[in-house]
Amino acid sequence: MKDSDQQSSPTEPIDVDVAVVGAGLVGMPLALALSAKGWSVALLDAGGEPGEQSEAVSVDEDSRSIALKQRCTALNLGTQQWLLQHDLWKSVAVDACPITRVNVSHKGYFGATRLSADEMRIDALGYVVNNANYITQLHKLCVTSGVKRLYNARVNGVTQLQDAVKLSVENAGDVHAKLLVAADGITSLVRESTAISTAQVDYDQAAVLGMVELSSAHEGVAHERFTQSGPLALLPRPGQYMSFVDCINPDEQQTIEGMSDDEYLQRLQSRFGYRLGRFNKVGPRFVLPLLRIESTTQVAQRTVLVGNAMRLLHPVGGQGYNLAIRDIDSLIRTLDKATVSDPGDDALLDQFAAQRLDDQKSIVRLTDLLARGFRGKSAIPGHLRSGALLGLDAIAPIRKRFAEKTMGISGL
Ligand SMILES: Cc1cc2nc3c(=O)[nH]c(=O)nc-3n(C[C@H](O)[C@H](O)[C@H](O)COP(=O)(O)OP(=O)(O)OC[C@H]3O[C@@H](n4cnc5c(N)ncnc54)[C@H](O)[C@@H]3O)c2cc1C
Repeated sequence: MKDSDQQSSPTEPIDVDVAVVGAGLVGMPLALALSAKGWSVALLDAGGEPGEQSEAVSVDEDSRSIALKQRCTALNLGTQQWLLQHDLWKSVAVDACPITRVNVSHKGYFGATRLSADEMRIDALGYVVNNANYITQLHKLCVTSGVKRLYNARVNGVTQLQDAVKLSVENAGDVHAKLLVAADGITSLVRESTAISTAQVDYDQAAVLGMVELSSAHEGVAHERFTQSGPLALLPRPGQYMSFVDCINPDEQQTIEGMSDDEYLQRLQSRFGYRLGRFNKVGPRFVLPLLRIESTTQVAQRTVLVGNAMRLLHPVGGQGYNLAIRDIDSLIRTLDKATVSDPGDDALLDQFAAQRLDDQKSIVRLTDLLARGFRGKSAIPGHLRSGALLGLDAIAPIRKRFAEKTMGISGL
């Protein structure tokens, strides 16, 4: 086994304050921040240890094809500041592309809303990171932290003991924890084991994800373009690359999956137009159905759900990860303030869940509105919808409040 933390005998249970299941985008920073606060933490993942990855993006063929394969996440300012406060930002920043402006437009209608970092008197509205690099950087910090890392360690079962939770883990025996945090993604085994049910909304949309190379500079501008089949988002990355999320009608999926790179590039260009110049090349794409899957509760006995295990959102407006970071921030603060020494204390977990409800509900409402409100099938007439964009553009204080909400900085 590669990880040096996996040397204890499988028959001896590992005892920790907190076990975080899932070393993904959410589990990794949570484990690091909890460990820095003095909790003993085990971080478990079914997959292997994150590998080293090239961070440079230049113009030669190899780095071009690497750049065209990225999967990206937009971090809002709230998330960036959270990473900064927890000493996690410095190494992530090397690869992060600042968003200097956001353009929101509606295909076929006049009207666009612009939010700019200059107007807000800040350096950037947010940052776009390559998920693989982001995980690699956080993993490097984990290696030098006190976090007990267990890779190739699938959790197969969860049992409640009197004062702890017992995890049965492949290749690592048992782990006993006072608090169990499920960051194990959409198909969360922890959620299933604790019998927390989920509710599902089908947006009747799918998303094509990929990278596109431009023929000119993007200047750090992110674009959200509302179309008949749903939003089309383009996020800036270093060089002349942009990450895109292209929402389509499900009945277009088969045709789009059968398209060559050139055919898809042409389609993307005609959907987006030429405000970013000519698109040069598109990378590998994959298509996924768009659903909202929400757990009916965030906490159960000695257990908290975070990230996709708690809630999968529509990707419009890039809210899912940023919301998850606010959840983990609140969890850490609640544990910090606790007068009891048991991090799995029922009252503590209930208090955490209650204080997160308003923010979670308002983000669900916002993403629902953006996912559905500008579609061809929406009940709001097109000229009124673009009028709303014009109106928002004209009224600076409202635009500022909208920006603050989506940037996650209203509470800072
Ligand atoms: C197309 C798209 C674009 C998005 N863009 C943005 C954006 O720009 N901004 C934003 O804020 N959000 C965005 N999101 C949301 C964001 O991607 C999610 O919030 C984030 O990926 C959630 O990560 P996670 O760590 O919860 O789950 P995951 O990344 O799925 O990690 C789960 C981990 O758990 C491990 N695991 C699973 N089962 C077990 C088990 N039994 N035992 C041990 N380990 C296990 C897995 O190996 C994995 O490493 C987007 C989402 C989509 C779909």
